[in-house]
Amino acid sequence: MTNKLYNLVIVGYGGMGSYHAKLLKENQTINVIGTFDILEERRIAALVDGYKVYESYEAVLADKNVDLVLIATPNDVHKEIAIAALNANKHVICEKPVTIYSEDLKEIMKVAEATQRKFVVHQNRRWDKDFLTIKKIYDETIIGNVFHIESRVQGANGIPGDWRHLKAPGGGMLLDWGVHLLDQLLFMVDSKITNVYANLSYVLGDEVDDGFQTIITFENGSTALIEVGTTNFIQLPRWYVKGTAGTAVIEDWNITGKIVTQNFGVDFEAPKPIQAGQGLTKTMAPPSEAAVSTSDLPEVDQTMESFYDNVISVIEEKAEPIVKNTEVLRVLRLIETIFKAAETNEVFKDFDTY
Ligand code: NAD
Repeated sequence: MTNKLYNLVIVGYGGMGSYHAKLLKENQTINVIGTFDILEERRIAALVDGYKVYESYEAVLADKNVDLVLIATPNDVHKEIAIAALNANKHVICEKPVTIYSEDLKEIMKVAEATQRKFVVHQNRRWDKDFLTIKKIYDETIIGNVFHIESRVQGANGIPGDWRHLKAPGGGMLLDWGVHLLDQLLFMVDSKITNVYANLSYVLGDEVDDGFQTIITFENGSTALIEVGTTNFIQLPRWYVKGTAGTAVIEDWNITGKIVTQNFGVDFEAPKPIQAGQGLTKTMAPPSEAAVSTSDLPEVDQTMESFYDNVISVIEEKAEPIVKNTEVLRVLRLIETIFKAAETNEVFKDFDTY
């Protein structure tokens, strides 16, 4: 790791901006030297937390001591703030969703290329333990070849905050949480997307979606059901994954869950019919004890370079970004496709081939 200390300014000192400030207190190479926010109350909050407050964004850009700008504003202004920072010779960390439209990210990428500055998106949920557990099961074929993935987050508190209820600043749950779950999915499944079907929910009466479901089919034959809900008083498991040799489930953020795998090559009794409602079924009877093994979820190795350390390694040209802009762009294009699929009620085909 480097000996240089990188000076960073947080632009947008709201919920996430102040969370970054807290996380960065632990970081040895990044020094938060100030903040900028357009709201007086958030400037005061930053001062109370002990940070310098810049009077204008121009003042941030003009400060030669600033190496890095971290953008944690609502989504519609990420692009203009990012491009101005890159043109002022600063590297940029940007919150997700990077922009609302993929064309805007392309513009940012061009400026980053032209200015030779680094632009990295904070897709922090690639480091989540629940995801890394599923990724390990997937990569190491612990339940055989995975052919179906269900990834859900569900709450019962509606859409949070203020601007997230509005279309213009990039509100709605597909852009807010969907971007995380889709980013995880595409980071894990190395196959082209062929079909996309989607359904957005507007039950709360907002102008933006309060949740969605999308079904994605990959060229390798596997499927994914991604779901975000804010009107779910009972939650389904965070992950439910099926493979050719078993099933894995993760119930919650505490990584409660299990793996059940089929015991191949063992003589076991065929399942006995059970009474199911008004009928009998053998098909839906639980497998006999000898037919399956239940095990704990695997432990994940969390030695992957942290997000912030990776940004510094990227700036110093010592590593590739863990979150690549081309990957972020693909996720944004998928989000655009999901919006179209939901609006037209069509299945979008051959997403990745054009
Ligand atoms: P927030 O409303 O709490 O904070 C946004 C702040 O930006 C406010 O203080 C607002 O005054 C300020 N702001 C608005 N326009 C500005 C401008 N032009 N210049 C400077 N400041 C400006 O919102 P939030 O929940 O903190 O979300 C901010 C961003 O962080 C969003 O992009 C959101 O999607 C993202 N976010 C990411 C995660 C994650 O896990 N990665 C979690 C929460 C939020």
